[in-house]
Amino acid sequence: MEIACPQCAQVDQVQSVPAAFQGGQTTYRVQGGVTAVPAGDGVVYASTTHRGVSVTATAAALNPYPVVRGAGCLLTVALFLLIPAFAFVSFATGAGAGDPAPTAGGRVGQLAGTWFFPFVSFALVALFAVLFVLRLRRNARIRRGIPDALAYWRQAWFCHRCGGVFFPRGELMSAAAFRGQVWRAGDYAGLIRRR
Ligand SMILES: [Zn+2]
Repeated sequence: MEIACPQCAQVDQVQSVPAAFQGGQTTYRVQGGVTAVPAGDGVVYASTTHRGVSVTATAAALNPYPVVRGAGCLLTVALFLLIPAFAFVSFATGAGAGDPAPTAGGRVGQLAGTWFFPFVSFALVALFAVLFVLRLRRNARIRRGIPDALAYWRQAWFCHRCGGVFFPRGELMSAAAFRGQVWRAGDYAGLIRRR
């Protein structure tokens, strides 16, 4: 089967998208210099080695995996906000034990004043808890869509001469446009903030 690029009509620079993606990732290992570290009376020689994956711009553009932002930070904020919330409650219950205001309106104002900060702080806790649940649900939906997105992604071809992606008998499109289509195939295009 010959897959010719719809723009240059050549086959020599055409590669399947998964192959082009993998080909653009190189694992490298750098043997760093030797450093003398003072230890006791003598010195210890330590060598530094660095490992990493270098990704070409092409591979980065063809990456089918969306950036999924973790939800843990939102939960941390919610839990952290519980501390001042409970502090305000204990303060409010302590203040409420004082003399009641002489009039009914004064008592309402007193009550509102006492419970304003506990209410606001618990509202913030609830807000971050809701954001946390929404983030979890969004991430779960992205994960569910990844197999469909990958199935679509695998069928595409990349022309290294033109720098575009195409499907057999289709038009050439930019890698960015293709990425949008991959996300749509996974049904999570609307959930990802483009960067
Ligand atoms: Zn081409």
